[in-house]
Amino acid sequence: MSLHLRMFPRVRSTLSNHKTDNTFHLDQGAMNTAVADTLPPRIPSVPHWPVTPPPPNPAAASYLIVAIGALESTARVVNQWISQAGETAPTQLLTLDSMESSTDRAALVRALDCAYTGVRILVTGGQYDVIVALTAARDHGAIACELTGFAVHTRDAPVYCAHCRNTFRAQAEPGELIMCAHCARTLEIHEHFTSALGSFLASDAHAREIV
Ligand SMILES: [Zn+2]
Repeated sequence: MSLHLRMFPRVRSTLSNHKTDNTFHLDQGAMNTAVADTLPPRIPSVPHWPVTPPPPNPAAASYLIVAIGALESTARVVNQWISQAGETAPTQLLTLDSMESSTDRAALVRALDCAYTGVRILVTGGQYDVIVALTAARDHGAIACELTGFAVHTRDAPVYCAHCRNTFRAQAEPGELIMCAHCARTLEIHEHFTSALGSFLASDAHAREIV
């Protein structure tokens, strides 16, 4: 882990029932049609990440910028935020390797402990890390208007297994099949994200199979 907590006080800009006769045919096609008729329509609820990094709220009393991971794209977002935020209020930068690290999660909590009313928290990195960090901040008492997240990619995601109730990092997107890292079931990641849990819902990909 590399942890850097630095202050940037006012930094300037450098940086389908199927009947064919009277006989009821229970064949697979009919079953599929029946299932299609009874399932509710699929309404995706997934995060909508902005295309470009949202600017820091200029009314903030201070900023806490959290950069997670070593991607260049993350560094570019951080530089942009520091340049914009540092002109209006004291700005802290916390750089972490991964929210999978308990050490890094603890470092984030320490930084949140030091935050005062009026702070705006900006988090960037890959989708998994950003979501986990934002969830930690929310669990720590931060409210929506205090939080800004920007994912530089969506190649990974925090996934909640509906069977063993564990959350883990998956290198996959909604609609894909993965193996649960904890109970080894084959899971389908659904287009259903809950900010309360900070994860995408996944369930047994074979649960709807009759045989
Ligand atoms: Zn599981």
